[in-house]
Amino acid sequence: MAKYIFVTGGVVSSLGKGIASASIGKLLESRGVRISIIKCDPYINVDPGTMNPFQHGEVYVTDDGAETDLDLGHYGRFTDAVCGKDNNITTGKIYYSVISKERRGDYLGKTIQVIPHITDEIKAGLRKIGSDKKVDVVIVEIGGTVGDIESLPFLESIRQMSIDEGRENVLFAHLTLIPYIKSAGETKTKPTQHSVNKLREIGIQPDILMCRSEIRLTEDAKEKIALFCSVKPEHVIEALDVPTVYEVPLEFGRQKLDDTIIKLLGLKAKKGNLDAWRTGVVNRIKKPSRQVTIAVVGKYITLQDAYKSIYEALIHGGIAHKAKVNIKKVDSEDIQKHGAGHYLDSVSGILVPGGFGYRGIEGKIEAIRYAREHKIPYFGICLGMQTAIIEFARNVCHLGKANSTEFDKNTPHPVISLLEEQEKVQNKGASMRLGAYSCQVKRGTKTYAVYASDEIMERHRHRYEFNNEYRTIMEENGLRFVGLHVRKNLVEIVELDRHPWFVACQFHPEFKSKPDKAHPLFRGFVNAALRLKKKG
Ligand code: GLN
Repeated sequence: MAKYIFVTGGVVSSLGKGIASASIGKLLESRGVRISIIKCDPYINVDPGTMNPFQHGEVYVTDDGAETDLDLGHYGRFTDAVCGKDNNITTGKIYYSVISKERRGDYLGKTIQVIPHITDEIKAGLRKIGSDKKVDVVIVEIGGTVGDIESLPFLESIRQMSIDEGRENVLFAHLTLIPYIKSAGETKTKPTQHSVNKLREIGIQPDILMCRSEIRLTEDAKEKIALFCSVKPEHVIEALDVPTVYEVPLEFGRQKLDDTIIKLLGLKAKKGNLDAWRTGVVNRIKKPSRQVTIAVVGKYITLQDAYKSIYEALIHGGIAHKAKVNIKKVDSEDIQKHGAGHYLDSVSGILVPGGFGYRGIEGKIEAIRYAREHKIPYFGICLGMQTAIIEFARNVCHLGKANSTEFDKNTPHPVISLLEEQEKVQNKGASMRLGAYSCQVKRGTKTYAVYASDEIMERHRHRYEFNNEYRTIMEENGLRFVGLHVRKNLVEIVELDRHPWFVACQFHPEFKSKPDKAHPLFRGFVNAALRLKKKG
């Protein structure tokens, strides 16, 4: 049976519990411990799929087609854990399941209550991952902050787990904030004491404290925290602000967090270190030998998290070439106002990411026209492929008013449209083409040059598809259909002739990129941008 590490957060949100959990995972993997990671989200949505990026940030998609929290993206980038639909548990999912059982009569005669029915359902979800024979340790990140009403059932469940599984098989790690008060020249431990007290009220005594801090914690401060919170001083880990999140596992390793966890949980582990990660990832980010500027043209560019995996995958593409990628975030609606040249004149690459709805579409189309005409490397992802097709239809094939039926139901040239199976779909939740699909890659193409494979698997999250009726006219005009999902005859990748690098795909390659293993398309795109290398 697997052992469990529960990661909670205190004092304030946004301390980086996802990165901390992923870093613990990375560190344990470097010691030969096999891990999986679960994110528990206290909201009542069944999954984040129907939430707006302003509410939630990016929706991360797994191979098995689950729309999940973006923390699963961190887990995927830092670790080798294979995460799927069972690795994200929401309050909505738990209640949905309990209420369905109640309606079916599974609990006949009983009153259904938070304890034990909801907590049992949560524990069953955790154990589902824990029962995998290939997993030694399950890291469970509890969303929200200790003290929130909505995360209480999750905290109660993990408290119960510490009894059910045996206290020696369970470890509680609490991520907290140690603020530095400039005027007093001191760090303050009081908020941490309060947050640990809140945990204790629920019956949870943390074993490890991970303390976010702007400045190094003195030994005195660590001892004070240890004393007031009943943890050993060596179990107080400082989590300093670092230049790149990929340095966090190294920081934890420096403080021997791996040894502490291995000892506390009695794990079998081998010797190991993160030297390859240090040289291959962190040092390359901190000391790049060159740099390049790439524009991301979207409508959620003011939000840090809406295109999280895209930004990270661009950084990975840079790491592969020992280059720093400066990301210029351009609002597509600004392009509509001031023209593409105003924003894109000095960049060496242009990327249009995924998205939904008409707002900002015409600006994206202008950006793509600019990339095509000025021979700037272009990478289109999902909506970025659909808009590239619309641009090509309108401006090269002279199909006036060509559009996607998502934006104009009555367009005379529906170059992007719904398949019949999608026309029938009524519900919005989990009803898109989701998850991994195979794609056949044509040889002798730019795409083949980076993948070096005839068949690839990539993840999807979209409703609309390229309309095959327009394939011939587009081909005649120089658009190449280089990736196809053969079984359903769906267009997956297009390229442009007579252009240094113009590749657009219907899937989301960003979800499979890792810092030490950049996704082939991001590696290829950044390489093309480096070859163009403008003043930006
Ligand atoms: N809105 C488009 C569709 O549903 C593109 C989706 C996306 O970019 N993820 O097909």
